[in-house]
Amino acid sequence: MAKKVMLTGDRPTGRLHIGHYVGSLRRRVELQSDPSYDRIFIMIADAQALTDNADNPDKLRENVLEVTLDYLAAGIDPDKVNIFIQSAVPELTELAFYFMNLTTVSRVQRNPTVKTEIQMRNFEANIPLGFFCYPVSQAADITLFHGTVVPVGEDQKPMIELTNEIVRRFNATYGEVLNEASILLPDNKACMRLPGTDGKAKMSKSLGNCIYLSDTQEEVEKKIKSMYTDPTHLRVSDPGHLEANAVFTYLDAFCQDEHFAKYWPEYKNLDELKEHYTRGGLGDMKCKMFLNKIMQEMLEPIRERRKYWEQHIPEVYQILERGTAAAREVGQQTIREVREAMRINYLEDQQLQQSQSQKYSQTL
Ligand code: ATP
Ligand code: MG
Repeated sequence: MAKKVMLTGDRPTGRLHIGHYVGSLRRRVELQSDPSYDRIFIMIADAQALTDNADNPDKLRENVLEVTLDYLAAGIDPDKVNIFIQSAVPELTELAFYFMNLTTVSRVQRNPTVKTEIQMRNFEANIPLGFFCYPVSQAADITLFHGTVVPVGEDQKPMIELTNEIVRRFNATYGEVLNEASILLPDNKACMRLPGTDGKAKMSKSLGNCIYLSDTQEEVEKKIKSMYTDPTHLRVSDPGHLEANAVFTYLDAFCQDEHFAKYWPEYKNLDELKEHYTRGGLGDMKCKMFLNKIMQEMLEPIRERRKYWEQHIPEVYQILERGTAAAREVGQQTIREVREAMRINYLEDQQLQQSQSQKYSQTL
C-alpha cells in the first residue's frame, strides 16, 4: 500500500477558532489514529505569518505557544503527530527558493485566495514580495515531507492546485522525485468556510469575528447571543430566512439529531427546526440558546485539556523540539534528493569531481 503522509498547518497569528476546528483540526484529530497514515506533520507556519506581520514578531513569539496549546487541547496526540515550527526547518526555505523558478507571477496573481487576502490587508498598492510568494512557500511545506493528504478548509484549494502544478513541473524538468498531494475538505459544506459571528464570508483571526476554542463559557455565550441572523426577521411571527444566517450555518456545522433529543425535544431534527423558522413564529434567541448548548458541550473538554497543558509549558516546548527534529530529518533527506535531481549537488558528487579532473589532466 502506498504511504500516506498528512501535512497541515496554521499561522501563529492568534489562538485557534471554531473555523479552524471544523475546517481542519477536527479531521486531524480523527485521522491521527488511522493506521493507513505513515506519518503526520502539523506545521506552525511562523515564517508564513511573517509575510504580513514583519513588523510584529512578538505576536508570533506569543502565538506559537498558544496554537500548540490549542492543538493539544483539541486532542492532538504528540506521540502520533509531529508538531514543528516552520522557521526551524531551513530546508523549507531552500525548496521554496527552487520552486519560485517553476511558476510565474501571473499564476500567483490569478489565485483567488491571494486576491482576497491582498484586499483584506490593503496591500493592493504595495504587496510585500514575501507575502506574494507565500503560496510557493506553501507548496514547499507540503512537498518537503512528501505530503499526500492535506486536510484544510476550502480557501486552501488554489494552494494545493499550485503545489501539484509545481510538482509536475519539477518532476518533468529534473526527474521523478516529488509527489502530488490531495486536498481533504470537510464533508459538511458549512464547515468548508465557516462564516464569522458577524455573518461575514469567513471566520478569520484577521477579521475579529471569531469564537475561539479557548473562549470561556461566558464569552462564547455572549458572542452567540449577538450573532448575525436575519435582519428582516424583526418580530417572532415574521418568516425567517436561512441564507447567510450565521446561526443556522453553525447549526448545519455542529448540530446532530441527538442534540435535539437532549436539549430541544420539541423538534426531531434540524430540518424540522428550519421549517418552523422559515414559516415564522420562532424567535432567534431560542435558536441561539440551543446553539450555545451545543457549542458548550463541544468546547468544554477542549477547555479542560487546555488547562492541563497550560500547567505543563516546559513539556509543550519539548513536544515542539521533538516534532521539529523529526521534521528536519525528513526535510534533509528530501533536500539531498532534490539537489541530486537538480544536479546542483557539486560537493557530494565524487563522479563530477573526478570527470572534471580527468578533463583537465588530459590538457597537460
Ligand atoms: P489569518 O487571518 O491569520 O489568515 P485564519 O483564521 O485565516 O488566520 P489560517 O491560519 O490562515 O487561519 O488557516 C489555517 C487553517 O484553517 C487552513 O486549513 C484553513 O483552511 C482553515 N480555516 C481557517 N479559517 C477557516 C474557516 N472559517 N472555515 C473553515 N476552515 C478555516
Ligand atoms: Mg488565513
